[in-house]
Amino acid sequence: MSHFSLVSTSPSSDTSSASSAPTFENYNFQIYRGQQQPQDDDNTKSESSTSHQEFLKLAHSYNYSLSQKELAITLDENDPLKHMRNEFNYPDMIPSEFIQENKDHSECVKKRVMYFCGNSLGLQPKSLAHNIEKELTKWSHIGVEGHFSSAFGTNKWFQVEESVKNAMAKIVGAKPIEVTVMNSLTANLQVLLMSFYRPTKQKYKILIEQFPFPSDMHAVTSHIKCRIGELRAIFENENLTSDEIVEKCIVQVGPREGEEILRTEDIVDCLKSDSHICVSLIGGVQFMTGQCFDMKTIAKTCQECGIICGFDLAHAAGNIDLRLHEWGCDFACWCSYKYLNSGPGGISGIFVHEKHAYENMDERPRFMGWWSRDAQTRFSLSSKFSPQPGAAGFQMSNPCILSMTAILSSLKVFEMIEQDGQIMSVLRKKSVLLTTYLELLLRQELGDKIQIITPSDSNMRGCQLSVRVIGKNLHQVDNALKKRGIIIDTREPDIIRVSPVPLYNQFIEVFDFVSNFKEILNE
Ligand SMILES: *Cc1c(COP(=O)(O)O)cnc(C)c1O
Repeated sequence: MSHFSLVSTSPSSDTSSASSAPTFENYNFQIYRGQQQPQDDDNTKSESSTSHQEFLKLAHSYNYSLSQKELAITLDENDPLKHMRNEFNYPDMIPSEFIQENKDHSECVKKRVMYFCGNSLGLQPKSLAHNIEKELTKWSHIGVEGHFSSAFGTNKWFQVEESVKNAMAKIVGAKPIEVTVMNSLTANLQVLLMSFYRPTKQKYKILIEQFPFPSDMHAVTSHIKCRIGELRAIFENENLTSDEIVEKCIVQVGPREGEEILRTEDIVDCLKSDSHICVSLIGGVQFMTGQCFDMKTIAKTCQECGIICGFDLAHAAGNIDLRLHEWGCDFACWCSYKYLNSGPGGISGIFVHEKHAYENMDERPRFMGWWSRDAQTRFSLSSKFSPQPGAAGFQMSNPCILSMTAILSSLKVFEMIEQDGQIMSVLRKKSVLLTTYLELLLRQELGDKIQIITPSDSNMRGCQLSVRVIGKNLHQVDNALKKRGIIIDTREPDIIRVSPVPLYNQFIEVFDFVSNFKEILNE
């Protein structure tokens, strides 16, 4: 059993200007932390997990040791998904300032860029340009008729979102009625909070992880401010400022003293011990540490405590084998340009559990527009209507056809690997091998020059590893990697994030990355 300490972030006394809104640094949020017990195991330590043992067994069966290049080559040869990389376009250019610095490298850079940034922006499906071309042709040739015509091998624009539901549902472990695509991620967080955050005198807090992606924090704090009248009525006698109400309505779960990742038990204890929580909003995979939360346990706890369970799946969709329906989470949203390869700013996905599919406006108020209605009555002017059932009832506008074409082209690639109705379990098999290989190789070759902060247990992470660089300047390392044609991303002050993506990264790229990284760190 862990014990909680309720601590505050740094006091806001040093913020002299009364007029400026608090930044997150000087909001005085409630933070729950589990307390380290003397007998606690430190679960951030690396142990030889099942995925390690399985990987080493596989390497052994090929008769190669971990450090041999032949192992990577053999793993690629035997990879059932090896052809999938042909479905993508690869960047062949590194920004010119890097190339100019060292002309000798420009040739090698042109030949092959190793792209480990699918966690940030996925690669472009090759079919996309042609599919966009078809839509542009259709638009130019038949104009508005395109809404009701599938000319040139396209979808009817009027119901185009129908065409993504099946594949998207499989990606997140949902029923088709539970998913749709609309807007962008942060907008969807606001839209879904509008409906699912229903504060009362008893339950008014939103639980969120301590260091979420900044946008999520902006979304939650601004959401509370936008509903300040409603919340003020709840705290009627307390005479609070709007910033104090924001502080009262948010509780963060933080890592324990000396640890970097969150413990599921601490999230669970917080959900159970704070009876004021009405919505839990945790990321599926933490963008910074790469930790995958135990969403099944979190969702179960929420159900036991009468808490609405929401997930931000930006780093989980297309990365983790999600079972949103089965877990019983209430709502979720995700962007599609990270692991779902739909291009910068691509349309976002939402999930609303079937248990909410038939709720009407009185049961669960929501923002609506003509696209909330079924296609038959969309043009009706009657203001009284029930939204169409399921996630589709949260749609407001007609979606951008270029964005829709991008996500459709990408989902088609995912569907190519489908086996027995499953997509993500197939992808995860390779992903676990690929990231385990990266982890084992990094540990063996780089030892104490780095520290891997992502959990070592493959059930607690997706494909990304977050690696702390010790004793070298982060940007020098990043630039040196870029010159060698390797793209990773950096997070201040000392973290690089490396994401071998199973759809398009190879074992040999992981090998090359580690050997180049090693050379750079030894320079
Ligand atoms: C990438 C990401 C976002 C980005 O938000 P947009 O609205 O798509 O710009 C938000 N939240 C999380 C957790 C993310 O990882």
